[in-house]
Amino acid sequence: MKRLSILGSTGSIGRNTLEVVAEHPDSFRVVTLAVKENIDLLERQIEAFHPEVVAVHDEASAERLRRRRPPVEVLSGDEGLVAVATMDGVDTVVSAIVGSAGLIPTISAVRAGKDVALANKEALVMAGHLIMSEARENRVNIIPVDSEHSSLFQCLEKRERAEVRRVILTASGGPFLRRSKDELERVTPEEALRHPNWQMGRKITIDSATLMNKGLEVIEAHWLFDIPPERIDVLLHPQSIVHSLVEFIDGSMLAHMSIPDMKGPICYALSYPDRYEGVMPTLDLSEIHELVFERPDPEKYPSLSLSYEALRCGGTMPCVMNSANEVAVESFLNGDIPFTSIFHVVSGVMRAHDVGKGESIEEIMDASRWAEEEARRLISSQERWRIKKGGVS
Ligand code: MG
Repeated sequence: MKRLSILGSTGSIGRNTLEVVAEHPDSFRVVTLAVKENIDLLERQIEAFHPEVVAVHDEASAERLRRRRPPVEVLSGDEGLVAVATMDGVDTVVSAIVGSAGLIPTISAVRAGKDVALANKEALVMAGHLIMSEARENRVNIIPVDSEHSSLFQCLEKRERAEVRRVILTASGGPFLRRSKDELERVTPEEALRHPNWQMGRKITIDSATLMNKGLEVIEAHWLFDIPPERIDVLLHPQSIVHSLVEFIDGSMLAHMSIPDMKGPICYALSYPDRYEGVMPTLDLSEIHELVFERPDPEKYPSLSLSYEALRCGGTMPCVMNSANEVAVESFLNGDIPFTSIFHVVSGVMRAHDVGKGESIEEIMDASRWAEEEARRLISSQERWRIKKGGVS
């Protein structure tokens, strides 16, 4: 019986994780749940899974939940998240908080010696060097939940790195695969949120449309598997059936395939090294007919080259890129900037950054706050990046 702490239980990954738990009641037990603010759904999860402790990040929401007298202790704030991430008696922490807010709870779990099922790629993007060295020191397993990385993890199992020529991450291309670069200027948040293959949260859905998600995943793959950037490739693959490929030095390739269903990677991260029966429906390739692969157009998707640049630059740069992107995505979703200005904001913040070594979490968090402020400053100072009410300026 694995005892789990699920950080981000009301998000897309969190809800899927609880479905996996409900389907395997003899294998997993929920010890703690943590959420940002969705206490209505959290209440229903408490009823269904009987955790020992819960944490609500937003203080006011935590207080509202306490007043409803739930049959469980309610922690709150940053300390609450860290407390449930490090709790005695928890074996595995499912890190599924969205964005940079997941960094401190994730590294705290690693320092407390917990295995981590990692969905929060931003933590590795911001501080991959620190997290992986802490993981080695504390002998904890970091098992990817991200579908591409779960599939690389499975293809690379028991393989020497010297045998690997390169790895290839696939990207669906999101909803705008067939739109031209110019057309992207005018797409709306509603269109961008309509992902063709995957049901996901808002932030990652926009990141999929900009391909920033794939850029973040290149950095994530670098840290998880210790593969240099020049040996990590990205291909567009609109069917989302092949999640990644490994090319070995002899020229042979392993591809990992399944229907696009996050339950597969989630369950494998929790059951590893075992496999469970019937987690996903069978993939019928005769119904798919064709698997297409294309090179992404770097002009249309500048986020890919920005990500490689951030990874090569190292130190605080990947963190700064990530935090600038979070602000830019939020501004796009609020209707404040056009879609393509996400790229301008991110590259503008990176250009202005005086890169540091990023040797401590404090330095990383400082760089993250600087990047958020700089992104907001750029957005409000650049008239051409703002949307005038009633149309794109
Ligand atoms: Mg992914």
